Amino acid sequence: MAENLMDKIVSLCKRRGFIFQGSEIYGGLANTWDYGPYGVELKNNLKRAWWKTNVQERNDILGMDCAILMHPGVWEASGHVHNFFDLKSDCKNCKKRFKSADLKDTAKCPECSGELTKARPFNLMFKTYQGPVEETGNQIHLRPETAQGMFVNFLNILDSRHPKLPFGLAQIGKSFRNEITPGNFTFRTREFEQMEIEYFVKPQDADQALEEWIQLRFDWYLALGMKSQNLRKRQHGKDELAHYAHACMDVEYNFPFGWAELEGVANRSDFDLKQHAQYSGKDLQYYDDTAKEKFYPYIIEPSGGVDRAVLAFLIDAYQEEQVNPSTRLRIDGEQSRTIKEDTRVVLKLNKELAPVKVAIFPLLRNRPEIVELAKKISRDLKKSFAAIYDDTGSIGKLYRRQDEVGTLYCVTVDVQTLEDKQVTVRDRDSMQQVRISIDKLKEYLVNQLS
Ligand code: ATP
Repeated sequence: MAENLMDKIVSLCKRRGFIFQGSEIYGGLANTWDYGPYGVELKNNLKRAWWKTNVQERNDILGMDCAILMHPGVWEASGHVHNFFDLKSDCKNCKKRFKSADLKDTAKCPECSGELTKARPFNLMFKTYQGPVEETGNQIHLRPETAQGMFVNFLNILDSRHPKLPFGLAQIGKSFRNEITPGNFTFRTREFEQMEIEYFVKPQDADQALEEWIQLRFDWYLALGMKSQNLRKRQHGKDELAHYAHACMDVEYNFPFGWAELEGVANRSDFDLKQHAQYSGKDLQYYDDTAKEKFYPYIIEPSGGVDRAVLAFLIDAYQEEQVNPSTRLRIDGEQSRTIKEDTRVVLKLNKELAPVKVAIFPLLRNRPEIVELAKKISRDLKKSFAAIYDDTGSIGKLYRRQDEVGTLYCVTVDVQTLEDKQVTVRDRDSMQQVRISIDKLKEYLVNQLS
């Protein structure tokens, strides 16, 4: 049943244009995914919501957008060259590769029972070369986290914006990790997007800031409509901590394959600033002009994955509903009829996340006056909302399609509209329909969506 749900999500994503297999016509490149028209809207809405909460609505967090390629010294200083690895074992028989942490028996292949090689470290950073000559001196890495771009700009931020502690930097961007065992659709991939905050605090305030941030980040998912029973917090054991972390708490989601990390909130201590100060030779201490002292702030880092969050919201919003005969779709007006709709698949994404807010249809595709009016209404609404016009199916099909992508309202122009200048507006969740006059339509939708 659980796996079944994941299959349904993957299939809906492809069928409706949320997420496609990467390079599909070439047989696909394993574990790469492309976001289609609805997927990119959902992803952008999620990123916008994160930016609004964490940058726009706060006085103490500043946004950034740093380069993916960074000076090789950054990864020496950050510890990623020497410490950012997973242990892996290969099966001598079937040649499959496993992450040692996932193995119950480190000697035996879990798939064919063949003999496994000894666990060997495997650095997760992607390497490439800068410039035309592929030699060691030109080797650089694709960033495995967005965080370092913010640490190396700490001085630039102090000098240009003069923020006082506590303050934060925030960034959304791509990161790359050569994961040994990617999988579970977009949950673990080698190229993914992160939303990260580096929040600088006085060392003595770090423990409390960690507690506050884990709660803030937990509440953010709830505020965007995620079901509370599918979310939990989990404290990391000492043996799980990353090389830079003093403490870490995760926000976990109950995925169909089990509870797994959606976002981590770590206390990175003063590790990163101290390391960059040492390797760059620059003074990266903060000067407190009240206490007249210099020190390295501690860093609390809420770090979430965009793709994981999109996947979790899709899973959370997916519903199959038995439609009660009395609430079956009814189109009023001259063309009055009832369309059978016994089960419907509906994505109950919240208002902020839904990729389309309103869809506009003509009831009859062969009546130019109706089609023209529907197109005109959609042109007008597009100025204010994510709206689409669709006339490529019967009205029942169009409703079903929009339910599957989570569209909040459907507006139908019918024969009666030509006379009374009213349209039928159908609510995704209640499936209730109301007649609204065209000149009040925008105001009605603004009220519903605000
Ligand atoms: P995991 O234990 O699942 O490998 P992590 O603890 O290594 O994750 P972090 O380094 O804390 O992950 O990265 C912060 C966030 O970035 C994660 O919570 C996750 O949402 C996202 N993320 C990390 N690695 C991947 C990946 N390979 N694919 C998709 N998202 C990822």
